[in-house]
Amino acid sequence: MNKSGKIAVGILLTALIVWGVVMAFKSSEEVRESEDFPDGTIWMCVDCDDGFVKSLEDLGAFYQEKPGAPIPCPKCDGTRTSRGKKCPHTECGKFYISALRTREQGKYICPRCKKELPSLHAH
Ligand SMILES: [Zn+2]
Ligand SMILES: [Zn+2]
Repeated sequence: MNKSGKIAVGILLTALIVWGVVMAFKSSEEVRESEDFPDGTIWMCVDCDDGFVKSLEDLGAFYQEKPGAPIPCPKCDGTRTSRGKKCPHTECGKFYISALRTREQGKYICPRCKKELPSLHAH
């Protein structure tokens, strides 16, 4: 391999390492934000189009009994549920699956009340 070939390989390797570090950092940050729920975990039921909150103890007990099973909705017993969010604006307080992002400013807004969300709720 000639010299410029080696340099090219070196640059590629460096880029890969940097990318790996950035991704590792990014995912650990996401885990920290999404797993830190002092008030429990928030879930959305697709059938009810409404949400519910499960405490970490409830969740732990459920998974101990039925590992990997979907969390059933307490209102309709449906299992088409997924992790959700709750709007932090008290006059709204509604549940949704994911925030909307405005095209102009790239800000995150609540899909229910269309108010801007603090970054913690934004993904
Ligand atoms: Zn339901
Ligand atoms: Zn809202």
